[in-house]
Amino acid sequence: MDTILVVNAGSSSIKFQVFGLNGEGRLSRHLKGQMDGIGSRPRLRASGANGETLADRAYPIEAVPDVTVAMTVAGAWLREELRVTPLAVGHRVVHGGPDYHGPVLVDHGVVARLERSEPLAPLHQPHNLAPIKTILANFPALPQVACFDTAFHRNHDDVADYYALPYQLHEEGIRRYGFHGLSYEYIAKALPRIAPEIASGRVIVAHLGSGASMCALHGGRSVESTMGFTALDGLPMGTRPGQLDPGVVLYLISAKGMAPGEVQDFLYRQCGLKGLSGVSNDMRELQASTDPRATFAIDYFVYRIGLYAGMLAAALQGLDAFVFTAGIGENSASIRARIAEKLQWLGVSLDDLENSKNGLKISPAESHIPVYVVPTDEERMIAEHTLALLWKTRPFHSTRERAS
Ligand code: ADP
Repeated sequence: MDTILVVNAGSSSIKFQVFGLNGEGRLSRHLKGQMDGIGSRPRLRASGANGETLADRAYPIEAVPDVTVAMTVAGAWLREELRVTPLAVGHRVVHGGPDYHGPVLVDHGVVARLERSEPLAPLHQPHNLAPIKTILANFPALPQVACFDTAFHRNHDDVADYYALPYQLHEEGIRRYGFHGLSYEYIAKALPRIAPEIASGRVIVAHLGSGASMCALHGGRSVESTMGFTALDGLPMGTRPGQLDPGVVLYLISAKGMAPGEVQDFLYRQCGLKGLSGVSNDMRELQASTDPRATFAIDYFVYRIGLYAGMLAAALQGLDAFVFTAGIGENSASIRARIAEKLQWLGVSLDDLENSKNGLKISPAESHIPVYVVPTDEERMIAEHTLALLWKTRPFHSTRERAS
């Protein structure tokens, strides 16, 4: 069967999924896997479509020292043991910079342009690009597609896209890009099918995971986002502070004597829920903790989501529905209930039973603003983009003939 491989590479893990393509051109997930603990305790784990274990093996640290080698090891396992020879590989790439408004077929020129965006996402972009470069070097004929977290937001109006900085800096690429675009795009595409009554309306989507942001959708199009130039802005996250007065950064440099690299590490890894609580970056651990600072970190998270909901409702000039997604949004009934309380003034109420079951629609019929829980699927979005681009660029032969 023809397959598409989806790769999402981070600093210490590579996640991958294989989608099969049926005769009608539909994609179904065959397996999920990841190599994590790269550079510390490498471990390859994978499971099939029904959750059955396909691999669970540990490697010595020197066998998988970095993302590049991890890609090679995971790729060899897929090829040699599972006989997976994909038609194409789709990659999650966090930053498309000013150049890319949609997925792109990768070649050396594209890689060079994406490398220029590395300073915009220093902890993500180089790791996202590493497996692309490895595959380009070892399998140059295998089509690869880069799918960007920024692309879905690139049609924002100028007032949502600019900072109040000299115009030249906008031209250089200092813009409010927005992130989690593959997640929002998946939800925007799913709504007409699963909740057609709200799909064309004004919807706030809250992607609440380790990284967290919110997006204002109007008719399925992103019109505003809580994130900006980098994935540091907006909501507080597991380890990132979210919105911060730039004066704080100046203070860290001038009064605390921190070097740029230290500030970067601090803002990406030491702040957010972790910094505030001093307990953990993980919401489940914070909820389980009796430490008052852990309780405060959750209060802060909920409060800021409420504030940003007001901002996004203003951008939309009203609100027709609210959607929760990602790890916290999909699974934590208590956090959803607390956020819904903050949104009462907008006309939000919850159906406690449906909320406790993580149901699709978790508001009662009388709620002015219906509330939904929609599990996101960024990997499927990447697989769909990859297939679509493959067909677009190779329309005259079967994809298999062209790939070989
Ligand atoms: P990412 O993909 O950004 O790593 P996820 O979307 O997987 O993040 O979300 C991870 C977050 O979701 C963690 O903070 C985790 O504690 C939280 N989470 C997952 N399940 C639950 C749950 N049942 N209750 C509360 N938080 C949860």
